[in-house]
Amino acid sequence: MRIIIATIFPEFVDTVRRYGVIGQAVESGILQIEVVNFRDFTSDKHRVVDDYPYGGGPGMVMKPEPFFRIHKHYSERYGKPFTILTSPQGVRFDNKVAQSLSQKENILIFCGRYEGVDERVMEVVDLEISIGDYVLSGGELAAMVICDAVSRFVPGVVEEESVKKDSFYNDLLDYPHYTRPAEFAGMEVPQVLLSGDHGKIEIYRTAESLKRTALRRPDLFVKRDFSEQEKKALIWLIRELIGNAE
Ligand code: SAM
Repeated sequence: MRIIIATIFPEFVDTVRRYGVIGQAVESGILQIEVVNFRDFTSDKHRVVDDYPYGGGPGMVMKPEPFFRIHKHYSERYGKPFTILTSPQGVRFDNKVAQSLSQKENILIFCGRYEGVDERVMEVVDLEISIGDYVLSGGELAAMVICDAVSRFVPGVVEEESVKKDSFYNDLLDYPHYTRPAEFAGMEVPQVLLSGDHGKIEIYRTAESLKRTALRRPDLFVKRDFSEQEKKALIWLIRELIGNAE
């Protein structure tokens, strides 16, 4: 999969492809992340990307020409990309949107700045995405969030087993994690995790996942159709509550 990010701050955005699992996937060629500068697609000698708003008012607006030129350039190079505009007015980004975007071959993400983007840019945009109900000074952080979360669903970037156990996959929150030492500052790792009994460990983890989801995200919990394993875990949890867990 290829993700192209268009920005006026390429050095800032470039960090998204350098670190951790995303960095490794880029190194190994599973992912292609390209960062492009809007200013390279201007036609005046000062490489201006913004102008005053028609009708007056505060701030500047991003000019449409560089957006159209970038879209044309990458469409000719790789085929028409699925094109996203970062915007506080877009659909709310979540795990399901990330997973569906990971099926696309080429994605182009536009990072807005200033007061926003000339409305005519919508002509080449397939989806406006917001990463939350707040206003950022630019689309760069949003594009990096989208790029990271989408990349995790691309096969080979993260172990499939791990992605499936992450929070929100199946509308559940992840269970708590522990590593060595078994006792730290008087706090002990739950005995079941040291038991070596994988059946019991699975039930415990599923129960913890369900418990956390019910307590922290009841909105997700009430939507669930429980699997057989989850029903067993719920029974285990109820027994634990009345002091009767095996
Ligand atoms: N005047 C715009 C409005 O109120 O809708 C906000 C412009 S904001 C200062 C500049 C740019 O940051 C936007 O064009 C968009 O690309 C990006 N941005 C700001 N908040 C965002 C959010 N919550 N999610 C995604 N992108 C955002």
